[in-house]
Amino acid sequence: MLQIQSFAAENWISPSKEARPIHSAITGEQIAQAGSPLDTQAMLDHARNVGGPALRALTFHDRARRLKALALHLKAHKKPLYALSYTTGATHADSQIDIDGGITTMLVFASKGRRELPDAHVYLDGELEQISRHGSFMGQHICTPIPGAAVYINAYNFPVWGMLEKLAPTLLAGVPAIIKPATSTAHVAEAAFRIMVESGIFPEGAMQFIAGGSGGLLGQLEAQDAVAFTGSADTALMLRSSPHLLRQSVRFTAEQDSLNASILGPDATPDTPEFDLFISEAAREITTKAGQKCTAIRRILTPEALVEPVIDALSAKLAEAKIGDPTERETTMGALVSQGQRSDVLARLKTLGTEARRVFGSDSPPLEQGAFMTPQLFHCADPGSAKAVHEVEAFGPVSTIMPYRDLPHAAALANRGGGSLVASVITHDPSVASDVAMGIAAYHGRIYVNDRDSMAESTGHGSPLPHLVHGGPGRAGGGEEMGGIRGVMHYMQRTAVQGSPRMLSAIGETWLPGAPISEAKAHPFRRHFEALELGESLLTKARKITLADIEHFAHFTGDTFYAHMDEAAAKANPFFPGRVAHGYLLLSFAAGLFVEPNPGPVLANTGLNRLVFEKPVSAGDSLRARLTVKRKTKRTETYGEVRWHVLLTNQEEETVATYELLTMVAYGQRQAP
Ligand code: NAP
Repeated sequence: MLQIQSFAAENWISPSKEARPIHSAITGEQIAQAGSPLDTQAMLDHARNVGGPALRALTFHDRARRLKALALHLKAHKKPLYALSYTTGATHADSQIDIDGGITTMLVFASKGRRELPDAHVYLDGELEQISRHGSFMGQHICTPIPGAAVYINAYNFPVWGMLEKLAPTLLAGVPAIIKPATSTAHVAEAAFRIMVESGIFPEGAMQFIAGGSGGLLGQLEAQDAVAFTGSADTALMLRSSPHLLRQSVRFTAEQDSLNASILGPDATPDTPEFDLFISEAAREITTKAGQKCTAIRRILTPEALVEPVIDALSAKLAEAKIGDPTERETTMGALVSQGQRSDVLARLKTLGTEARRVFGSDSPPLEQGAFMTPQLFHCADPGSAKAVHEVEAFGPVSTIMPYRDLPHAAALANRGGGSLVASVITHDPSVASDVAMGIAAYHGRIYVNDRDSMAESTGHGSPLPHLVHGGPGRAGGGEEMGGIRGVMHYMQRTAVQGSPRMLSAIGETWLPGAPISEAKAHPFRRHFEALELGESLLTKARKITLADIEHFAHFTGDTFYAHMDEAAAKANPFFPGRVAHGYLLLSFAAGLFVEPNPGPVLANTGLNRLVFEKPVSAGDSLRARLTVKRKTKRTETYGEVRWHVLLTNQEEETVATYELLTMVAYGQRQAP
């Protein structure tokens, strides 16, 4: 029998006499045990005093690189996780969602961390806010990691993905984690955790693990800690309403259960590809993971006239499900996690049966041993008056078909779930997609629209993606996870900082306009990446713009817009005093003013951000550019990115344009990536 250990303050702790049993979903036998009393205060101290400081000493990019290494390490060692995953009733495909899906989620965060976060310790949220007349006192929002611990309480259905989708943004933020998985699948979570922690890729204290109950942990949390909960609405309510957590204002993110809906568009009649797509998506959501997915389709909304065809087609599709031993490759639907879960689902079917008629499935188990169950399809003819079908989550292979009259009715029914993780609409008509989205968006964390154009590449109604927000309002818990860098922000504090540009630049690890500059001693394009300093600046000589320049540029590029060519027409335009130079002419001349023509450290100009033309330039005006190093980010072993603030002024020193210029600049000496 497996002894599932906790990992507390760098020690592995075996189960004690009070350990809870873990059973195989396939045979019902006890296969493991987990749980022992833990010194949870010592775990918190270890996270706060050892893990947190070590993580915060790293930059976002350092942590992103380690995250990538960790994901690749898991990938290389994932095989034993599959063997364990089968014991939870999961098929190979279910396990792929959990194990490989979790690893991919981590890889996406690692990549986004390096692309979208700075190689620094502070994240700047938004632009500098001008709050004083002369710019000597400004405002800037910054985000810094919370110095406490992130505590996860996870549901049983995705023991690996559920841990990794939380761990990736937490570690990227620089916050240590204490992970408490659901006990019934803790053996899978522990095996994945062990691979990660034994890799030594993250510093000590960055992650700890609780097998079994969490003891007094939640009562020891403080304002700088965070709880990320995934599970049922009842448990979430019980935990989040703890007076201690409320008094301390501990961040509490809840991902709860959800009565997700899928709407068949009125245009998607049985002769269309959308109808078949709808049936396949619905069948997949019912059978994948034996329906134990928080995002599964629980309510199938179809136009009144299409109820019978949908019942027939979906029943036929569900009849194809091969239920059985999940280790067999031909099995398409495994078991529920336990007999207890099976009994729970059967009890809920009874409740649904008071409002809906079962049209597919039965209470009898398809196999004698284990927690197997047939798919269950219900038809609720009067969803307007029904209650349970919109409120009771049977966390198994269960869904209810219900008719709608028109799109406002479909939206109203979808919203009767009281807030859900995802709703889908299968339609080829953009006006249907738009009406449904406007009618339901506020009630759902994600809207999935699919049709013949997108079906080949679509990711599935029930698949949360690391790039997109996962979570929903109301019944779904009111939480938000993932969503790319948004998910990292849950573990950071946003703070408004006021001060002079010099102070804000120092705090934000970025040169900000208005902060002191240092005149470059040599042309900055001749300096290697590591030699360039924030605030190092070059002021070019001036160049006079002539009418001939404007006309030449107009004919050369084909941009003969009247504002550049016709004095009277330009004057009549409220923006221009008369004929003016093209904005792109100014950019081109600016490049001509600051460029260093010979081969050197600057390898390429890779982009231009936030371009604003502030004042028109007429023939006779002169233009000069000021180029200042704003931020530096290492990219590869041989070069890094330098962001320059560019200011274009006229002969009156008035600002003509500003922008951020991106260049890749070589290192003088090879550097670690
Ligand atoms: P659950 O019974 O609510 O348990 C969730 C977690 O809470 C488990 O780790 C459980 O630990 C823990 N827990 C229970 N009582 C606790 C207490 N007093 N103190 C500390 N922790 C406590 O949910 P589940 O049965 O595992 O999962 C199924 C539910 O999760 C479904 O309703 C499903 O919709 C929902 N879910 C939601 C999402 C989402 O992202 N929104 C994802 C997956 C699942 P033990 O196992 O040790 O009791």
